[in-house]
Amino acid sequence: MALIVQKYGGSSVADTDSIKRVAKRVVETEKKGNKVAVVVSAMGDTTDDLIDQALSIDSNPSEREMDMLMTAGERISMSLLAMAIHAEGSRAHSFTGQQAGFFTDTRYGAAHIKAVRPDRVKNALSLGDIAIVAGFQGINAKGDATTLGRGGSDTSAVALAVALGADICEIYTDVDGIFTADPRIVPSARRIPSIGYEAILEMASCGSKVLALRCVEYAQRFNMPLHVRSSFSRRPGTLVVPDGIDPRTLPNLD
Ligand code: ASP
Ligand code: MG
Repeated sequence: MALIVQKYGGSSVADTDSIKRVAKRVVETEKKGNKVAVVVSAMGDTTDDLIDQALSIDSNPSEREMDMLMTAGERISMSLLAMAIHAEGSRAHSFTGQQAGFFTDTRYGAAHIKAVRPDRVKNALSLGDIAIVAGFQGINAKGDATTLGRGGSDTSAVALAVALGADICEIYTDVDGIFTADPRIVPSARRIPSIGYEAILEMASCGSKVLALRCVEYAQRFNMPLHVRSSFSRRPGTLVVPDGIDPRTLPNLD
């Protein structure tokens, strides 16, 4: 049995049908005998829409209120996903960043994670529940909601995987992994089956946007293997592995 963290990005949970599809995949992973914690992003363009709404009211909104607003996006997807998992007949419990123990510094809109103490998540997993965690958010020393910067759910997922001692962190997106170029633009782009952290960091600094830079740095620091794959297909993705680890030994590759 493996402990797996799965992160689903905004395009994977864009509408309620997509959330139902994701629920099936999560339950399938659980039914194979794994413990599963899920990190979700906001549905589709929700975060952009929330920002537009704020700016239509105040061109210079308070940073504290902006973070309060933006954390709402991930709360919608986490609770809907928990419901969709219940509808599949499995048990799930959702947690905000605060409830999941994500402590950050006070930089609203670009907070850094200082500690992750996921006691409630661990407890849910030990009771046999699937734990769902809102990505991209935490709480600062003042007790206010903070966000980690755009695309921050990847970092939430890796940080949770590290704090739980997970065997792998799977990042589900809308492409089949990491390619030599953007496959939506360059048809001849090839999927990279497995790669090391340094090489990914180089690609990210050259503008490749599949993974947030900070998430890869975090994974590298703690040697957390990543599997970047599509939630829309069953094709293999890209494994990002520490030196000396045989990618074939990682769990849930099919
Ligand atoms: N929802 C946030 C954003 O759109 C965080 C994320 O998707 O990772 O930036
Ligand atoms: Mg998003």
